[in-house]
Amino acid sequence: MSPKKPVGPITLAVANQKGGVAKTTSVASIGAALAELGHRVLLVDLDPQACLTFSLGIDPEDLETSVHHVLTQGVDPAEVIIATEDGVDVLPATIELARAEADLLTRTGREHVIKGALEGLADDLGDEAYDWVLLDCPPSLGVLTVAALTAADGVLVPLQCETLSHRGVGQLLDTVHDVRRFTNRGLEVWGVLPTLYDGRTNHARTVLETISETYDLEVVEPPIPKTIKFAEAPAAGRSILATSRTSKGAQAYREVAENLVARASRPKAKKARKR
Ligand code: ADP
Ligand code: MG
Repeated sequence: MSPKKPVGPITLAVANQKGGVAKTTSVASIGAALAELGHRVLLVDLDPQACLTFSLGIDPEDLETSVHHVLTQGVDPAEVIIATEDGVDVLPATIELARAEADLLTRTGREHVIKGALEGLADDLGDEAYDWVLLDCPPSLGVLTVAALTAADGVLVPLQCETLSHRGVGQLLDTVHDVRRFTNRGLEVWGVLPTLYDGRTNHARTVLETISETYDLEVVEPPIPKTIKFAEAPAAGRSILATSRTSKGAQAYREVAENLVARASRPKAKKARKR
């Protein structure tokens, strides 16, 4: 039996201002895994590099409208969303999104643009609303990431377990703390997701334990192993769940998705924790 679906859309921001930690890969793979479980999934590409859009088999250059128009011109997201072969829908990005940061900077309520767009979409879709919305954040702590955190129920932090990888975590958590104070009291840190994980070394395990203890963060299991298979998926326009169905990486993301579904049905903490 497939795990229970969450009630109403659960919005998760996948964020880390460091590039190359597998944010985009995790969004595409967890999204595909949730779709396999029968959940309705929307992925939102918030990176002007449009890697998520591209990795789902869409050429950003072919698009006339994108998430940029939704955020800066109030275009209805339903007009922009594209269904993909992976069974997920995507709100695609193009390089135009690079301007959004500047366009939004002087706008009142800019932190709320993503939240507003997603709420309108959920209202319009009614019973057909998405079960999950995954936000693929850009590698910065700018306007778009803050807007994503403002729209989110939870934040998931992909982390490559290297010695220096935790230096940015404190900064990200400071931003989460600000978002809780000013724009989204209910934001919860769902935890760190160890990515590009080389379990053969004690080193990776030690770094992971240090980070989780230092910042009092949950670790979302299992760690995603480092494997060459991930390099092949984006070019095929599919996630690793389709290009390498039985690989360890695909299997790990399936387990992560199941754990997220379980986490979604956990009652909310009454009082926001310190961090
Ligand atoms: P980000 O979105 O954080 O910048 P990406 O998801 O684009 O990171 O991943 C960066 C690179 O690492 C990509 O080339 C991707 O294919 C590769 N990659 C991601 N996860 C893995 C993994 N588990 N094993 C090997 N390579 C990976
Ligand atoms: Mg990315």
